[in-house]
Amino acid sequence: MAKLIECEDGFVVRGEDDDALVANAERHIAEAHPDLVGKLSRDEILAMAKDELLSMAEEPDSNWQRTKVTRGARRTTAAT
Ligand SMILES: [Zn+2]
Repeated sequence: MAKLIECEDGFVVRGEDDDALVANAERHIAEAHPDLVGKLSRDEILAMAKDELLSMAEEPDSNWQRTKVTRGARRTTAAT
Protein backbone atom coordinates (compact mmCIF):
# COMPACT_ATOMS: atom_id res chain seq x y z
CA MET A 1 0.00 0.00 0.00
CA ALA A 2 1.24 3.48 -0.86
CA LYS A 3 2.20 5.65 2.10
CA LEU A 4 3.10 9.26 2.69
CA ILE A 5 4.86 11.35 5.31
CA GLU A 6 3.95 14.98 5.92
CA CYS A 7 7.21 16.62 6.90
CA GLU A 8 7.29 19.41 9.46
CA ASP A 9 8.25 21.88 6.69
CA GLY A 10 5.15 21.00 4.66
CA PHE A 11 6.91 18.73 2.16
CA VAL A 12 5.01 15.52 1.46
CA VAL A 13 7.11 12.40 0.91
CA ARG A 14 5.35 9.59 -0.95
CA GLY A 15 6.26 5.98 -1.62
CA GLU A 16 4.61 3.03 -3.30
CA ASP A 17 5.81 0.75 -0.52
CA ASP A 18 7.91 0.96 2.63
CA ASP A 19 11.22 0.72 0.76
CA ALA A 20 10.32 3.51 -1.68
CA LEU A 21 8.95 5.68 1.11
CA VAL A 22 12.10 5.34 3.22
CA ALA A 23 14.30 6.03 0.18
CA ASN A 24 12.32 9.16 -0.72
CA ALA A 25 12.27 10.33 2.89
CA GLU A 26 16.04 9.89 3.20
CA ARG A 27 16.51 11.89 -0.02
CA HIS A 28 14.30 14.72 1.29
CA ILE A 29 16.16 14.67 4.61
CA ALA A 30 19.49 14.89 2.78
CA GLU A 31 18.24 17.86 0.70
CA ALA A 32 16.24 19.80 3.30
CA HIS A 33 17.41 18.58 6.70
CA PRO A 34 21.10 17.69 6.41
CA ASP A 35 21.40 17.91 10.20
CA LEU A 36 19.08 14.89 10.49
CA VAL A 37 20.97 12.65 8.05
CA GLY A 38 21.76 9.38 9.75
CA LYS A 39 19.68 10.23 12.84
CA LEU A 40 16.39 8.70 11.72
CA SER A 41 16.23 4.94 11.43
CA ARG A 42 14.01 3.11 8.95
CA ASP A 43 11.62 2.26 11.79
CA GLU A 44 11.42 5.90 12.90
CA ILE A 45 10.69 7.04 9.35
CA LEU A 46 7.97 4.40 8.93
CA ALA A 47 6.47 5.41 12.30
CA MET A 48 5.72 8.85 10.80
CA ALA A 49 4.03 7.39 7.72
CA LYS A 50 0.32 7.39 7.00
CA ASP A 51 -1.62 5.37 4.44
CA GLU A 52 -2.01 7.38 1.25
CA LEU A 53 -5.53 5.93 0.91
CA LEU A 54 -6.71 8.34 3.61
CA SER A 55 -5.98 11.45 1.55
CA MET A 56 -6.55 10.46 -2.07
CA ALA A 57 -7.65 7.14 -3.54
CA GLU A 58 -6.46 7.26 -7.14
CA GLU A 59 -6.59 3.61 -8.15
CA PRO A 60 -10.23 2.76 -7.40
CA ASP A 61 -11.23 5.93 -9.30
CA SER A 62 -9.28 4.99 -12.45
CA ASN A 63 -10.70 1.45 -12.29
CA TRP A 64 -14.17 2.91 -12.08
CA GLN A 65 -13.54 5.10 -15.13
CA ARG A 66 -12.25 2.10 -17.10
CA THR A 67 -15.45 0.20 -16.21
CA LYS A 68 -17.55 3.16 -17.30
CA VAL A 69 -15.76 3.39 -20.67
CA THR A 70 -16.25 -0.34 -21.27
CA ARG A 71 -19.95 -0.06 -20.46
CA GLY A 72 -20.33 2.91 -22.80
CA ALA A 73 -18.68 1.03 -25.65
CA ARG A 74 -20.93 -1.97 -25.12
CA ARG A 75 -24.00 0.26 -25.13
CA THR A 76 -22.88 1.85 -28.43
CA THR A 77 -22.42 -1.59 -29.97
CA ALA A 78 -25.89 -2.68 -28.85
CA ALA A 79 -27.50 0.46 -30.26
CA THR A 80 -25.92 -0.01 -33.66
ZN1 LIG B 1 11.24 18.40 5.45
